[in-house]
Amino acid sequence: MHEPVLVLNANFEPINICTTRRAVVLILGGKAALVANGRGYIHTVRVLIPRPSVIRLQLQVHRPRPHIKLTRREVFRRDNYTCQYCGRREGGLTFDHVLPRYQGGLHTWINVVAACPPCNHHKGGRSPEEAHMALLRIPREPPASAAYIFGRHLAENQEWNDFIRGW
Ligand SMILES: [Zn+2]
Repeated sequence: MHEPVLVLNANFEPINICTTRRAVVLILGGKAALVANGRGYIHTVRVLIPRPSVIRLQLQVHRPRPHIKLTRREVFRRDNYTCQYCGRREGGLTFDHVLPRYQGGLHTWINVVAACPPCNHHKGGRSPEEAHMALLRIPREPPASAAYIFGRHLAENQEWNDFIRGW
């Protein structure tokens, strides 16, 4: 009952992921409709409920434009698990403030990158200019598209693809 279920807004925009248990509660309460199952059935005492994979809310939910939360994991993902100084992909990654914090560098998307341990060590507490190191690309906030937000669930939930594409 804890498998992820993709929740679509009334206009079919993918907005959230909830548990199967929550999805069933929403469906039984008339708050959402089943869009895709394909996961078999849930047996309750009295009824047989299709096990949802995608549901759609009956009423449109208004919400602000989503932003990707700044975390190590999301920074590594944005940077394609690649050191942004040398392009290396293996050997583990660290989190680098491009302009060091003690020099006034902020903890924002445009000032954090993935760096391999040797590059991070070489850079030390310096700015890229001081360390004579160049970034492969200018760091930006990743777009909060549905494909980006829900992309990491697609491997296990291929059927979500059609509902995520284009948003
Ligand atoms: Zn490196």
